[in-house]
Amino acid sequence: MSSHGPLAYLGVRVDGPVWHSRLGHPSSPILKFLLSTNKLSIAGTKTCTNFTCYSCPLGKSVKLPFQSSLSVTHAPLALIHSDVWSSSNKSVSGFQYYVLFVDNFSRYSWIFPMRLKSEVFSLYVKFKTLVENLFSTKIKALQTDGGGEYTSHIFHNFLVTHGIDHRISYPRHPEQNGLAERKHRHIVDTGLTLLAHASMPLAYWAEAMHTAVYLINRLPSKVLGLQSPSQILLHKEPNFAFLKIFGCACFPYLRPYNTNKLHLRSVKCVFLGYSLDHQGYRCLNLITNRVFLSRHVIFDEHCFPFQETKGPHAPISSSSSTDSAPPLQIFGSSRHSSPSATSRVRPSTTHSMVTRAQTGVRKPNPKYANHAFLASTNDLVEPTCFSQANKFQEWRTAMGEEFNAFQRAGTWVLVPPKPTLNVLPNKWVFRIK
Ligand SMILES: [Zn+2]
Repeated sequence: MSSHGPLAYLGVRVDGPVWHSRLGHPSSPILKFLLSTNKLSIAGTKTCTNFTCYSCPLGKSVKLPFQSSLSVTHAPLALIHSDVWSSSNKSVSGFQYYVLFVDNFSRYSWIFPMRLKSEVFSLYVKFKTLVENLFSTKIKALQTDGGGEYTSHIFHNFLVTHGIDHRISYPRHPEQNGLAERKHRHIVDTGLTLLAHASMPLAYWAEAMHTAVYLINRLPSKVLGLQSPSQILLHKEPNFAFLKIFGCACFPYLRPYNTNKLHLRSVKCVFLGYSLDHQGYRCLNLITNRVFLSRHVIFDEHCFPFQETKGPHAPISSSSSTDSAPPLQIFGSSRHSSPSATSRVRPSTTHSMVTRAQTGVRKPNPKYANHAFLASTNDLVEPTCFSQANKFQEWRTAMGEEFNAFQRAGTWVLVPPKPTLNVLPNKWVFRIK
């Protein structure tokens, strides 16, 4: 146990697969490295890294080639990379995006959820104040892809006033923003794997991505010579002793919350990640939708409450049902949430990661187009062509949402056909999942 981290009542030695899950499903070499350096309290040695994880293939994509970063820096905040990630699913708190900031020197990352892209400027100002105070140095340069939210008049003036060099990747050269792109990929893959492992709905993506960033900042990285971003930036060894598996069952000590001495001391909750402000665990009560923060929590890492809620009668999430939910402050506030979505959607290997530079590489998955519809189509047949599907309102709605998702993501640009080019056809594929 550490005086820096939250406290857990159970501190037993666990095996490799449990550590793999607690750490956000890192690759085998990273887990082996942590075990070989005695950073993890392990039970047994034989099965440490020789196991199959069924959640990893669900959340992680096939790696695409990336050019390595062109920028070399020798101090924190000398260069910050930033980019916006869009989700095709609104989170339980109504978030649609997050903005990412990565320190080029340490690869340490911060993300902030957003309802609108226009929040990027105010979040950058907040981020700048935070890190400059923390590290007693100034941000010198900002690398972006030049998206509208970074090139507004007010943003431009702010950067000029503070002497910050704004580096914009050239159009059609997204690899110049490659570091942010790679970081997005790592965060989103990890977040989706966490959701898949806990059978949690995509509506909890903001909590999952936040936990992913928390873990990635603490994990050794090959590009950092197997040091972690937090080691390089904060000069301290990450403490893994208090990590628990995202989405597992937990029992927080509720005495401080109770208004009546006869109230139960605890209640079964879902572990939703770590609270930065309070150095505690965030625990969601699925009955009342209330989130408790506690340092004193008992965990059952073999039980995942969202697995128990699956089935045809589970409540269905939709964007409209989450609109009225109060914001879930996942980045360091103690405000409570009221998530209303409890449907479960299995993440897929082709998740809807959409960043401008990668548009066209990843496409929104039709299976997320309309949860309510998809969950109620067990006895329907899959149409084999457009004209068949077009006869049904549900499929028309799904196609409409899918088409709109492509449009919003700017997946294609219409150009006049050239007689010299061989134009490939495409078709709709309909699947009930
Ligand atoms: Zn895994």
